[in-house]
Amino acid sequence: GSLRLPHPEHLGVTVQPDPEAARRAELTEHLRDALKLGQFSVHYQPQFDIRSGRVRGFEALLRWRHPEHGFISPAEFIPLTEASGLIVPLGMWVLRQACETGTSLLGVFPDAVMSVNVSAVQINDPDFPECVKEIARSAGLPPHRLELEVTETALIASLEYAQRQLMRLSQAGIILALDDFGVGYSSLNYLKKLPFHVVKIDKSFTNDLTTPKEAKVTEAIIQLVKHLDYRVVAEGVETFDQLNRLKEMDCDVAQGFLLSRPLAPEQLPAFIAKHLVHP
Ligand code: C2E
Ligand code: MG
Ligand code: MG
Ligand code: MG
Repeated sequence: GSLRLPHPEHLGVTVQPDPEAARRAELTEHLRDALKLGQFSVHYQPQFDIRSGRVRGFEALLRWRHPEHGFISPAEFIPLTEASGLIVPLGMWVLRQACETGTSLLGVFPDAVMSVNVSAVQINDPDFPECVKEIARSAGLPPHRLELEVTETALIASLEYAQRQLMRLSQAGIILALDDFGVGYSSLNYLKKLPFHVVKIDKSFTNDLTTPKEAKVTEAIIQLVKHLDYRVVAEGVETFDQLNRLKEMDCDVAQGFLLSRPLAPEQLPAFIAKHLVHP
């Protein structure tokens, strides 16, 4: 005879609708029209060269203002856009905004870099390298002023294909950064196999400096990255103590709330004005 599973109620459990699944479905539905409805914006978080104190660049961070739920974190909605494929047009939109802003900043910060997060789904799109080059070109941003940040989880599907796609971007002069270094499964493997120029160490390593052991791990990561002749960026710098420790450890670049929050485009003129008074 056929196997009959006991009904959940006979086991004394009641089946609850999954509220998280319901929210994901609702947000996915709303995301479809969010671009058309102008609900997205891009904020820019400055990065600073630790030794000189000068602005090294800006990281573009996507923001979604939902009409009822207010601001929703990219950590929540980016995975939904990856699953639906919306990340491809949305990612291109972010890239265009960021390149245009980058170009507008060239006069004030002539050697600053505009850094844009990209998802695996984008990298695996065969047209991606050409699209990126075309967007930068039409925005007037030189390729060596554009940096793409890749998170290692993003690459898992096919290392060889990611390698070829990244090589095409690198050969065009675009800077490649490995984001959230140290928290994934294969950080070291990616570091060996892929053509990065910059490594962003995850904020957990910036924050966990309280015990000598934690500090040694962060210091060793910085040394490893510098030994490869890559630049090392610390993200999530929140205190002067952390900044001083990172400086002692010879970290190149710092980014975090201590130095500046991500800025809305309308806040950039005030940031520039302040920067010009106190370079
Ligand atoms: P990420 O690329 O690691 O970006 C850094 C995150 O740390 C940002 O969160 C930023 O606001 C936050 N942050 C900066 N300084 C500090 C600090 O001092 N302390 C703390 N606790 N956090 C700090 P955000 O903007 O919420 O973005 C979350 C993630 O969403 C990003 O992490 C990135 O992986 C993803 N994301 C954001 N924009 C895009 C995008 O345009 N495309 C893609 N594919 N992913 C994006
Ligand atoms: Mg990033
Ligand atoms: Mg990222
Ligand atoms: Mg990160």
